[in-house]
Amino acid sequence: MKIFLNDERDLNLLLHAIKSLSLGVLLPFFFIIEDKTTLFLFSVIYVLVYIYLLKQFIIMFHDISHNDLLKKEYKILNMFLNSILGILYGMPFSFYYDHHILMHHLEDNNENDLSSTLQYKRDSIRDFTRYYFKLLFSTFALCKYLKIEKSNRLKYSKKYFLYESLYLITGITLISNFTLIGTVVFIIPILLTRTTIIIVNWAEHAFIDLSNYKSAYGFSVNIIGEKVNSKCFNVGYQISHHINPLAHYTEMPQIYEKNISKYIDKGVVIFKDVHYPDIWFYLMKKDYKTLSKLFVNIGFKYQSQEDIINLLKSRVMPIYSNNKVM
Ligand SMILES: [Zn+2]
Repeated sequence: MKIFLNDERDLNLLLHAIKSLSLGVLLPFFFIIEDKTTLFLFSVIYVLVYIYLLKQFIIMFHDISHNDLLKKEYKILNMFLNSILGILYGMPFSFYYDHHILMHHLEDNNENDLSSTLQYKRDSIRDFTRYYFKLLFSTFALCKYLKIEKSNRLKYSKKYFLYESLYLITGITLISNFTLIGTVVFIIPILLTRTTIIIVNWAEHAFIDLSNYKSAYGFSVNIIGEKVNSKCFNVGYQISHHINPLAHYTEMPQIYEKNISKYIDKGVVIFKDVHYPDIWFYLMKKDYKTLSKLFVNIGFKYQSQEDIINLLKSRVMPIYSNNKVM
């Protein structure tokens, strides 16, 4: 299979892409099963399979959005793979690419980033709720961004609007005619996939250094340790990923080790062996005690647990309000 790949190191990503396609194999059974009870049980199984695959799907999909998985000569196959995978997991074609690659990485969590966390108090449930609904319904905002902020992106803006509209029309038609199937293959993936992405983005950009908020060292959080990174394509190395989005995920631990003195110097926030959604959860509970235990005190800059808690609390304060630095 390696001969089809752009980069031989992506074999694991390809295997996960194939695994993620299993939802597509299950899909036709919705229209074959006639008995209502069997259909209901099958729907439960479908949702459980979807939830089981979701975490690794999101990270794999993120990586193949940055770098095409297959060689140039298989461009059509790449597009097919990306569109089918996206649709199965609640995202119309180009949704993730337009938001993440054409917008988020360009703006780096700053003022024009639609998913920027700067203006929110990042341990506040109220602020997170505002952020959540703003992003959940950000279709028109992204169209406007692609059209206005980056004028050469007009065609992306039109395409994005077209794909999102077609996706919604198909979904609504499906729900109107087959309520259970529409809920399982359309509503649940839309809500759950997008909710997970929003939660993860919040946690990745939760601890921001006011004196350095325009730099990846100041606006991103790293998670080190095998527990998370070995199964999740080194997703924890957010700082290096924002500095060099095209760097291969397998290189991330070495990049981190090589630059550790810089990380100490810049006073970055690093946790160990915890997932981003867990960080979000502890923030919503304002559980700084647990967060301080997961904090990695590189360079031994902080003398006590209290010092770490004070640092973490200072990093969740809003940076912007009404477009002014606070
Ligand atoms: Zn990225």
